[in-house]
Amino acid sequence: MQKRDILIVGQGLAGSLLALEFEKRGKKVMIIDNNPSVSSSKVAAGLYNPITGRKMIKTWLADELFPNLSKYYQDLEKKIDAKFHFSKTIYRPFNNIGEQNDWSLRTVELGYNLYIKFTLNYSMEIDQLIDPLGGFFINYSGMIDVPELISQCKKYFKSRGMYTEERVHVEALDVGEVHVKLGSFEADKIIFCEGPMAVNNPLWSDLKFKLVKGEILDVSCPTKIDHIVSKGIFMLPFKDYVRVGSTYNNKNQNEEPTEKGRLELLNRLSKLYGGDVNILKHRAALRPATFDRKPFIGFHDKFKNVAIFNGFGSKGVSLIPYFAMNLADHICFGKKMSLEVNPVR
Ligand SMILES: Cc1cc2nc3c(=O)[nH]c(=O)nc-3n(C[C@H](O)[C@H](O)[C@H](O)COP(=O)(O)OP(=O)(O)OC[C@H]3O[C@@H](n4cnc5c(N)ncnc54)[C@H](O)[C@@H]3O)c2cc1C
Repeated sequence: MQKRDILIVGQGLAGSLLALEFEKRGKKVMIIDNNPSVSSSKVAAGLYNPITGRKMIKTWLADELFPNLSKYYQDLEKKIDAKFHFSKTIYRPFNNIGEQNDWSLRTVELGYNLYIKFTLNYSMEIDQLIDPLGGFFINYSGMIDVPELISQCKKYFKSRGMYTEERVHVEALDVGEVHVKLGSFEADKIIFCEGPMAVNNPLWSDLKFKLVKGEILDVSCPTKIDHIVSKGIFMLPFKDYVRVGSTYNNKNQNEEPTEKGRLELLNRLSKLYGGDVNILKHRAALRPATFDRKPFIGFHDKFKNVAIFNGFGSKGVSLIPYFAMNLADHICFGKKMSLEVNPVR
């Protein structure tokens, strides 16, 4: 038997960042992943944004998550010698005069100052960008190339003997009073970071996941855009292309890109950008969202060695680093976890 402190099932963004937190705390970890060609993390746009939605309000836990986020990813880049973090301001054009007015009230609300770089009440006049009323620029925002991050993490884990490529079947798991056994591994605990695949795991059949399909395009366009632009749809500028997304569909639960999704994205894009675009890639995946939009983090109600770290929905990039630290501190040092994310809530 190979002994480990922790077994982690799934090497998406959740499993990768959680494994690194345990490693930092001196724990011996083994990650087991089936390495699919499509997963939430392999398709994610990677945007992080503290002010979201039509109402333009701070997202849940913004003050805890955002001020340290860019440093977190920069430190990780240094640690694993990779480049996947791009600290970019988000430009959020106004849709109408009502929004412009609502925003001017928002800017004087307590706690917003930190996140507002500046507001413009006239167009930026970027070639073909449709922003006649101007908009506002958001601080503490940026993007992560998530597929690159997990690919580099995998290399790092492999080089340290922390990674096995395999599909875990729960029937093969032997949960004892003190240890869990799985194949040739024995560990103190096992943590499931399976993303949307958790809905097939009988251990978590009581949890109310609400998976949301997302489609995304990579396009080439002649305009050079320096900022992330977001108005009902986002444009993320990469070196040679712009990523455009995403759709939200909780009925169609597969990973196939659709004609309907492509047309919806192009239609929404045409309200933000008037130039021609050429589609380079069209992808789709499921987001591991939950009934109340809060993650499921903690131990199984019957098995005290079996935990879940999942349900990060469309905000994995900002939520996972914070909660990976919380769960690692909880398991290693007994620090309390918020009841809001308890899987049994
Ligand atoms: C189109 C789209 C756009 C998105 N855009 C953003 C964005 O801009 N910003 C943002 O923050 N988030 C975004 N997200 C959401 C983000 O992708 C997720 O929150 C995050 O990637 C979830 O990571 P995860 O590790 O929980 O799941 P996953 O990435 O699905 O990883 C789970 C891994 O576990 C493996 N696995 C599962 N079960 C088993 C098993 N039994 N045995 C072995 N391996 C197993 C899977 O194959 C997979 O490799 C987007 C998602 C989509 C689909």
